[in-house]
Amino acid sequence: MFNLDSLLRNNIKRLVPYSSARDEFKGEATVYIDANENGYGSPLPVNYNRYPDPLQWKLKYKLAEVKGVPPQNIFLGNGSDEAIDILYRAFCNPGVDNVVLCPPTYGMYEVSANINDVVIRKVSLTEDFQLDIAGLQEAIDENTKLIFICSPNNPTGNSINRADIELLLNNFDGIVVIDEAYINFSRQKSFIQELTEYPNLVVMQTLSKAWGLAGLRVGMAFASEEIIHVFNKIKPPYNMNQSTQELAFQALDNVTKVNEWIRETVIERDLLSAALEQLPEVLQVYPSDANFVLVKTTDAKGIYTYLTTKGIIVRDRSKVELCAGCLRITIGTPAENQLLLEALKTYQPQTEKTVSA
Ligand SMILES: *Cc1c(COP(=O)(O)O)cnc(C)c1O
Repeated sequence: MFNLDSLLRNNIKRLVPYSSARDEFKGEATVYIDANENGYGSPLPVNYNRYPDPLQWKLKYKLAEVKGVPPQNIFLGNGSDEAIDILYRAFCNPGVDNVVLCPPTYGMYEVSANINDVVIRKVSLTEDFQLDIAGLQEAIDENTKLIFICSPNNPTGNSINRADIELLLNNFDGIVVIDEAYINFSRQKSFIQELTEYPNLVVMQTLSKAWGLAGLRVGMAFASEEIIHVFNKIKPPYNMNQSTQELAFQALDNVTKVNEWIRETVIERDLLSAALEQLPEVLQVYPSDANFVLVKTTDAKGIYTYLTTKGIIVRDRSKVELCAGCLRITIGTPAENQLLLEALKTYQPQTEKTVSA
């Protein structure tokens, strides 16, 4: 049986969160001299002299409309990385509890576990990049507090089978985190409509990818009100600055534009995949539900280096488990994709270098 209280670390259960000036007085007033701010203003065309809303309600109400999830079920952070870190700090006793990760996957789950001194249990994906259910069953024990599932997965690009995720949600009494950073490009349905179904579900999304706002740092976590309350207790009081809250709020008016980009990216993904498959140095383009493709090549390092000489930077993932020979290529604009293909067409495999006197 899932029980949030018994899952939480004791120090977090007992934690009295910081109470800000704006927590202690919530009404309207004429003179605010309770937060040691500068009453004159800011040395900028726009004023930022007041502390921002700690809980970002205005932005959350607008996001709630876009996402179809109540604002009380949303946490906003300084990128998804903040949500990942808070999950460890809320649930995992350092050196005692463990997290289950399914490589190859996003690197921050592991880095954040290491920062928080949380034991990592790795259950690799299968050859077709799906969950190894038997392996997961074996790895999970009474100290397993979190499982991270990235779907669509980075760097492989595929979605994880929904039935397998549901199996975990129904049978694991810890928290199942589904990272949906690439959900906008996927054929699969998001899990954010399932929050009432699963008390142990946390869904992460971001404005960094499809929404084109990586520089603003807006990560989102969707979960039960009880879990969101825990996030809010732990986060720094002002974890999202005023300008980010305002700019993200404005950006959400442009859903139509973003949907156009998504449609175009998906078309380009299929065109680029087909064109890459024709190249002699490409052994396989893996099917993608994201805005990138994983490409198995004859010589990842050589092609990577060659492309850098042409001013084109892709990601060499060849040292990653199950990804030998692989490059991860983000789907660019049609012009960028054309430049990539033209460069790859003139790639010559390096022949053995001979040493001359
Ligand atoms: C890019 C990415 C994110 C987004 O991180 P932000 O901190 O929100 O920019 C999250 N998860 C995965 C798997 C990613 O690839």
